[in-house]
Amino acid sequence: MDLFEKAHQFTRVSEAKAGGYYPYFLPLEDTEGTEVTIYGKRIIMIGSNNYLGLTTHPKVREAAIAAIKRYGTSCTGSRFVNGTLKLHLECEEQLAAFVGKEAACIFSTGMQANLGAISCLIGKDDIAIVDKDDHASIVDGVRLGFGEMRRFVHSDMASLERQLKSAPDKSGILVVVDGVYSMGGDIAPLPQIIELCQKYGARLYCDDAHSLGVLGPQGRGTAAHFGVTDKVDLIMGTFSKSFASLGGFVAGDADVMSWIQHSARSMIFSASMPASQVAAVMAALEIMQCEPERIERLWAITKKMREGYQSMGYNTGLSETPVIPIVIGDEQKTFAAWKTLFEAGIYTNPVIPPGVPPNKSLLRTSYMATHTDEQLDRVLGTFYEVGKALELI
Ligand code: PMP
Repeated sequence: MDLFEKAHQFTRVSEAKAGGYYPYFLPLEDTEGTEVTIYGKRIIMIGSNNYLGLTTHPKVREAAIAAIKRYGTSCTGSRFVNGTLKLHLECEEQLAAFVGKEAACIFSTGMQANLGAISCLIGKDDIAIVDKDDHASIVDGVRLGFGEMRRFVHSDMASLERQLKSAPDKSGILVVVDGVYSMGGDIAPLPQIIELCQKYGARLYCDDAHSLGVLGPQGRGTAAHFGVTDKVDLIMGTFSKSFASLGGFVAGDADVMSWIQHSARSMIFSASMPASQVAAVMAALEIMQCEPERIERLWAITKKMREGYQSMGYNTGLSETPVIPIVIGDEQKTFAAWKTLFEAGIYTNPVIPPGVPPNKSLLRTSYMATHTDEQLDRVLGTFYEVGKALELI
């Protein structure tokens, strides 16, 4: 049997390309945030995670450029050896203070943060209990650990309790949730989850990839939003969204951070974040705290768009945040809607199984504080026309 047989048999992509409905890996020729150029055409971007629109903020750009001028383009080594700059330590201190924890560890991506931090915590007899809608990096982090993975029905407290109750006494337990779910845009019910964790002696890890810069005072995340920061053991974040950079971090008690720093293989065996990316994070962090109008604008846009879609008859699921799914259900209809919107100048992300359960295909839309009302009205108008034409509404 030829190892490459699976690749030779993999025709889905060429079929989709031939049918003109292949929506992935589209090359952006240019981007200034809310609008991008693809195949020479200007398109309104409602498919990014640039929630505060900071990727082009002058202070963020300047901080990154200044860092390149001072430190060069790469650290050429892992944090563990030659790749720790004083700048990494300063950034970790600021992040820990921002989310209300003693210490933080920076990784080179958010994916690596989850892979490294979770896997080194889940030892042989331990159990990770994860929400079924948790991000793939959480699932993979648990898989890399030596313990067991159990899953509970999305945000279902009875299901979580069943898993907690049946865990053996000898097992350490880590419950892992997303603060804001990346596809559904709903918020994890942290107060109820905390109650169960405390009842069964479990530790709680919250992936705040889509919450930082968005939820809570000054965008401090899901725990801050609920006022329960001291009861969430570990807060994880990524820099590829509101922080307008690339990288990730985990924050918690200092001794746990020291364990992670000295055990997480994705930190020890991978080169550290370049200075420019760290400087961009620090600039973004400052802007989050001194330009609160950005977060206010993001929430005003969120309300406008969610109500706009709902009033047309679209199903926006359980979304409560700037991530607003348009649930279509059927896969082919979802691709047809994606294609028609794209041709009309609107960029969305089609999500099909296994990204979502069967018959729950959707267009993921998400918003930036920098979207203009004119752009958003165009988006709503186009959704209305496409929805009518394809009989989605
Ligand atoms: N967690 C969640 C919930 C995410 O949505 C993502 C990225 N989509 C990640 C982790 C990984 O982050 P990064 O892009 O920095 O690797």
